[in-house]
Order: sequence, then structure tokens, then C-alpha cells
Amino acid sequence: MSESSAPVPAARFATPLIAWQRTHGRHTLPWQQTTDPYRVWLSEIMLQQTQVATVLGYYARFLQRFPDVRALAAAEQDDVLALWSGLGYYSRARNMHACAKAVVARFGGEFPRGSELLQTLPGIGRSTAAAIAAFCFGERVAILDGNVKRVLTRFLAYGADLAVAANERALWAKATEMLPAHGDGIESYTQGIMDLGATVCATRSPQCLLCPVQPHCLGRREGSPERYPVKTRKLKRSQRENAWLWLVWDDQLWLVQRPDTGVWAGLWSFPEFESTDTLAGAAASWPGEVTPLASFKHVLTHLDWTLHPVVWRLPAKVTRRQVDAITATLPAGRWVTVDEALAMGVPSALRKLVMRSV
Ligand code: SF4
Repeated sequence: MSESSAPVPAARFATPLIAWQRTHGRHTLPWQQTTDPYRVWLSEIMLQQTQVATVLGYYARFLQRFPDVRALAAAEQDDVLALWSGLGYYSRARNMHACAKAVVARFGGEFPRGSELLQTLPGIGRSTAAAIAAFCFGERVAILDGNVKRVLTRFLAYGADLAVAANERALWAKATEMLPAHGDGIESYTQGIMDLGATVCATRSPQCLLCPVQPHCLGRREGSPERYPVKTRKLKRSQRENAWLWLVWDDQLWLVQRPDTGVWAGLWSFPEFESTDTLAGAAASWPGEVTPLASFKHVLTHLDWTLHPVVWRLPAKVTRRQVDAITATLPAGRWVTVDEALAMGVPSALRKLVMRSV
């Protein structure tokens, strides 16, 4: 940051951004019609790593089922995960549930009214706390999610590596300094910088001609704003392969609940084996008909996971005792119908597989 380390006058950034948001920004999203922190918080958590179009349906269903924080706090985790199913990044759902409980236990069912206290709740980071505080309580505080980092680093031509914590802290300081004075119009400003990142200052091809801060954007002036933000640390991806046992008995399937940590923590899934050979070895004495399904790759944030599903259909004449002996060799679980399975908190990979196979 060279030129950009000088203070940015409001006339160059905050003022045109607020004016643009009021005329061109988004105003009709359901979570914009409220200052209820429960609703704003719900939307902020859902929108992390997820597109608005995807969130809309989930947001409506969540509010219908859990209209306030007390209702969510009182829910069973399985019900929360079931409603979340398909949104991915399930730690968000578990943290959300823990957060609702903490709001009830520590704050009597009312979200605290400041960003500092909000950050002490599970799953609420600094930027999310700031968004809730700005939208619901008019607090003058900066957000810095991925979209906002992109806008600010481009506007400031901020080329320092954001993988270095000190550089990210410096950007936070800059983001705070650029807020409108006295917090005037902080709601429109906060929404505006989100909208700009989501709709105009796009990752690959920013629409600079439509941008309200374009006349003073240093990244644009340099000619290649796409080079910002700079973040060198790459996620290390790993590969993994497993076999999935789709065990069928009497039109029901056996689902097991995954451990509380690791991939798909707490979700219901098929029993997993190291390989199809391991599965075949474990099931060598089982009666029934075996049908391997097409293998597929499921891509997670850090992991390319190849799954080899195998349908194992137990014969109709098998006794309950035999069935119990088989399931006793598997992780604890339950027999469910396909409809029941699809209504549970299951990974999207399982949901898709079941839906295309039945
Ligand atoms: Fe982004 Fe272009 Fe606007 Fe700069 S001028 S903030 S690069 S859209």
C-alpha cells in the first residue's frame, strides 16, 4: 500500500458508495426488511460461502420452522442439520445451534447489542458481528468478508499478502478508517460494499464502468484490478477414496450418524469402508444381492473424495436376527425409508445419489 496509505476522503469512497447503494443496490432481499438480529444473523451465516439464490429457500424454511432464537435453541441438532442439508459447510449449522443456545443461556434470548459481545458467541467472527451490529444497531464498525476484501484491495491497490496476519490487520484498520464519519448511513454503506463486491467488483471481470468509486480506484487506474487481493497461501488439497455401503432391507436403508468431528460431522450417511475390497471382506458371509454403482468424485474445500457406492440388498426371507447380526458389525445407525432419509440431515452427495438411483 503506497498511495493508498493516505486517508481516503469520504467523497472518494463512502459518499458515492452510499448514494449508489440507495439507488442501485439490493433492497428486496428478505433479510433486508428487518433489524431483527436473529434474522440478520441467520442470513449472514447462511450467506457465508453460499450464493444468495441458494440461501433464499433455506432462509424461508428456517424462519418458518424456527421463528426466533428460542425456538432454534430448543431444537434437536438433528432437526437443524436436516433443514441445513444441502447448504454445505455443516460446521456453520452446528455453530448456529450452539450460538442460539448461548444467546438464550447468556443473554436471556436477546442478541447482545454490540459487535464486541456478538463476537463472543459461537460461529460469529469479527465481520459477521460487525454486519449484525451495523444493520441492527447502527454501530459504526467495519466488515471484511471475501467480497469486501476484494473491493478494498482493488480500490486501494493494496498488494500486501493477506495470508500474512499483520497485512490483514492493516486492511481491517483501513476498512475502519474508510467508514462514513460518525456512522452516518452505516446501514447503506455496509450493504453497499457487500452489493458492490457481489454484483459489480466481480472476481474475474469487474464491471468498473458501472462502479460508483471507479474515478478513484487505484487498482483500476493501474490497469489490472483483477490482480487484487493478493493471498499466496494455497489450500492444500488431499485425495481420498472410500466405499459406501448402501444396505437395503425391506425397502429401508441403514444410515449411520457420522462422528462430531471431521467431514460431514454429525450428518447421517452410509457406512463407509476403506475400499470395496474391505467392504467385500466384511460382508463375505452376508446373504443378498450386490450391485456396484458408478463411482463419483465429491469435491470438498480441502478434499477430492472419490466414493464407490455399493448397493447390498438383503433377501426378503432374511430373519430379523440375521439382520441385527449384520448391522451389529456396522457403526450404530437406524433403518429408514428413502423418504425419511431425504428428510434427515444427510450430505448432499448422498442425497443426489439416492435421488438419481431410486
Ligand atoms: Fe472494483 Fe473496478 Fe470498482 Fe475498482 S473500479 S472497485 S476494480 S469495480
